Amino acid sequence: MCVEGCMALVRSRLQSESTLENENTAGNEPASPTSGDKSSTRRNFLQGLAGGGLSAAMLMGAFSSRPALAMDHESVEHPHPDDRRNRKRLLRRGIKRIVDLTHSFDGNFPTFGGKSGISSKKLASFSKDGYNVYEHKIFEHAGTHIDAPLHFSQDGASVDEIEVEQLVAPLVRLDIRSRAADDSDTQVTVDDLRKWEKKHGRIPYGACVAMYSGWDSFVGSRKFRNADKKGVMHFPGFHVDAVNFLLKSRKVSGIAVDTLSLDYGRSQDFAVHYAWLPKGKWGLECVANLSSLPAKGAVLVVGAPKWRGGTGGLTRVIALV
Ligand SMILES: [Zn+2]
Repeated sequence: MCVEGCMALVRSRLQSESTLENENTAGNEPASPTSGDKSSTRRNFLQGLAGGGLSAAMLMGAFSSRPALAMDHESVEHPHPDDRRNRKRLLRRGIKRIVDLTHSFDGNFPTFGGKSGISSKKLASFSKDGYNVYEHKIFEHAGTHIDAPLHFSQDGASVDEIEVEQLVAPLVRLDIRSRAADDSDTQVTVDDLRKWEKKHGRIPYGACVAMYSGWDSFVGSRKFRNADKKGVMHFPGFHVDAVNFLLKSRKVSGIAVDTLSLDYGRSQDFAVHYAWLPKGKWGLECVANLSSLPAKGAVLVVGAPKWRGGTGGLTRVIALV
C-alpha cells in the first residue's frame, strides 16, 4: 500500500475507532493494547496500518546526528522536490501538518543524572576520506527518548520487543502550563484526566497521554533540570494516582512528558516509573513542541530504536495533525 493510501486509512480508522470508543464507554473495556488480547476494533485498525509503509517512511533517518554535528559537505539541497511532492500528497489526504516532537541532541543536552549523554569520535571526514562517519557512545536515557518496560522491571519487554502497533498512537495533550509556571513541583492528577475527558471525550484506546507543561522551552538553561542546592530537581511529572487510573480504567499505550522524567523532579521513589513500565507500557521523556499540537486529534509515530535488549533510547517522535 502506498503511503498516502495508508495515511487516509490511519485517519479514517482513528475516527471510527474514536467513535466506537465513545459509544462503548458504558460497556466493557476493550482488551489492553499491551496484553496481546486485542479487540477486533484495534485489530482492524492495525490491519489497516500493517500493509502500509507508514512507519518505515516516517521513521527513516530517525538517528541522523547531522543537526548536532558539523559536517564537512554542505552542498546537499533541502527540501528535495520529491519531498515537496510527497507533502502535497499528504495534504490532499487530510494530513495538514507533520510536527517534529524531538529535540536535537548533542553532548550539551541536559540529562537526568547531569552527565553528558553522548560522546562522539569522528572516524572519517569527507575532506580526507571522501565520506563522514562517527562513532558515538550514547547513554540510553538521554535526549528525547523512550523508556521501555524493561527499564523498571526484571523481565519486561526490551525496547526492540515493543510491538510496532503500540508505537502509533492517538495523542492526548494535557495542558498544565499555568500550574507549572506557578509550581515547578506540580503533577498530572486524575482530575486533569477527567477534565480533559469532559471537554474532549473519552481518552482513545491505544493513546499516548502527554503532559504539556511548557518545560521544553527551558531546555537550553539550568531551569530544565532546576536542581536546588541539595541537588534535588524541580520539574513537573505524572502523579502515580493518574497513571494508576490510566492502568485500571483506560487502555492507553504510553505516556509522555516534556521534562526529564515521567515522575516529577522531586521524586525519590520513582513511583510512576515502577507503576507504569512493568505493566508493559512505554514512556517518552524530553518531548518537544507540544505547543504546536491540538489537545486532541494528532497521531503520534514513535520511532523507538530496535537494539536488542535495550531499556530505551533516543527516539524520533513525530506527530501527524
Ligand atoms: Zn528514560
